[in-house]
Amino acid sequence: MKKACSFCGRAERDVSLLITGMNGFICGDCVQQAYRIVEDSMRADHAGNEGLGFELADLPKPRDIKAYLDQYVIGQDDAKRNLAVAVYNHYKRLAQQATEDGVEIEKSNIIMVGSTGTGKTLLARTIAKLLHVPFTIVDATVFTEAGYVGEDVESILSRLLQVADYNVQAAQRGIVFIDEIDKIARKSDNPSITRDVSGEGVQQGLLKLLEGSMVNVPPKGGRKHPDQEYIHVDTRNILFICGGAFDGIEKKIAQRMNTRVVGYNSVQNLQQIDKSNLMKYILPQDLKSFGLIPEIIGRLPVLTYLNPLDRKALRSILTEPKNSIVKQQVKLFEMDGIKLSFDDDTLEYIVDKAMEYNLGARGLRSIMESIMIDAMFEVPSKNVKTFKVTLDYAKKQLEKANLAGVNAG
Ligand code: ADP
Repeated sequence: MKKACSFCGRAERDVSLLITGMNGFICGDCVQQAYRIVEDSMRADHAGNEGLGFELADLPKPRDIKAYLDQYVIGQDDAKRNLAVAVYNHYKRLAQQATEDGVEIEKSNIIMVGSTGTGKTLLARTIAKLLHVPFTIVDATVFTEAGYVGEDVESILSRLLQVADYNVQAAQRGIVFIDEIDKIARKSDNPSITRDVSGEGVQQGLLKLLEGSMVNVPPKGGRKHPDQEYIHVDTRNILFICGGAFDGIEKKIAQRMNTRVVGYNSVQNLQQIDKSNLMKYILPQDLKSFGLIPEIIGRLPVLTYLNPLDRKALRSILTEPKNSIVKQQVKLFEMDGIKLSFDDDTLEYIVDKAMEYNLGARGLRSIMESIMIDAMFEVPSKNVKTFKVTLDYAKKQLEKANLAGVNAG
C-alpha cells in the first residue's frame, strides 16, 4: 500500500509526520484537526448541561475542607473554619436551587481582613483547588468608575470566563478572589479629591456584581465598547471572597471598644482583651469606619480575620506545608541529582530576617531566593551530590544580595 494519509490523501513525503494504523495512515495535520473537532463537540455537550455538575454528597464537608487547608496553610484557624463553612453553604445553596422548595438560602460572600502575607490569597487559592471550580484573583486597585481610565469592574467576570474556557455555566458557579478591597475605601476626608473615582464609585460598581445580577461582560476584558458583543453572566451563584490588609483598622476597633466600655463589668472584660491582636474583635461597623459603604458590607456577610504571623508560624511555614518553600528548593536540586539540606540555624536565621522585613510570609520567599541564587546558578554544572546551606553561607549570601540591592537603588 502506498504510504499516504487516509484522510487528506497527501503522500508521506508531503507531510511532516505520518502515523500508521491497522488499515491506513493519518498525518499530523489531520490529527490536529480531528482533535479540534473532538474538543469543540465536547464543549458543545458541556454547554448544554444545565445541571450543577456535582452532588452534595460528593462535596467535602467543612471539616474535610479545613483538614485540606491545614496541609497548605499554617495557623489561621478562625479564617479556615469560616471559609470552610461559607464555601460549603454556598454549594448547598446551589444544590438547593436545583430542588426549589421555596426556602431561599442567601449567598455568603466572604471578607477576610489581615496584614499582607498572612495567607489570604493562599487560602482562597487552596479552596478553589479543592473544589475544582473556575477561580480567578483580581486586584481591586485596577478598577475605576465606568468612564474613567482603568478597568471596569465587569472585567472581573471576563477573567472568570477565560479560566472557565468560556463555559458560561461553569463560570457562573466560580469563585472570585478580590484582593486589596481596602484600597477602594471611601476617601472623602481628602479634600483634594473632588470626584472619588477610585473609591465609592467602584464600590457601587462592585455592589452590582456582589448582589447577584445579570451582567453584560465584554468577552475580551478591558473596557466596554459599544459595538462589542457581550456575554451575559448571572453573578447570583458566583462566590466572592474579598481580602484586604485594612492598614490602621486596629485603631478603629480600639476606638469602638473604648467607647463602649462603661461600668465595672466592662472594665473586667477590657482586661481580658488581647491588645496585641485587636483584629480578632473586628466587626462590620469597623469596615464602615474604614470607608466601605454599608451596602457592600451587607453583601459580604461572612467577616473573618487573619492573625499576624509570629516567629513560630513563620518557622512552620518554611518547612511544614505540603509545598513549603524548603520542600520546593529541595525538589529543584533533586531534579539535578543533588541532595540539598539546610542547617537548623540557617532556617532560624531566615525567620529572623523575615520578622525584620515585616512582610509576613512573603519575606521568607525573597530571602530564600537571595540566599540560593548563586548555588542555583553554579551547583548544577558542578560534579557534586550534596549541598548544605550553613548559617555562614546564608549570611554571606544575604548580605551580598542586600549590598547589591543598595547599589542598584
Ligand atoms: P496575602 O495575605 O497578602 O494574600 P498570600 O496568601 O499571598 O498573602 O501569602 C504570600 C505567600 O506567603 C504565600 O504564597 C505563601 O507561600 C506564604 N504564606 C502566607 N501565609 C501563610 C500561611 N499561613 N501558611 C503557609 N504559607 C503562608
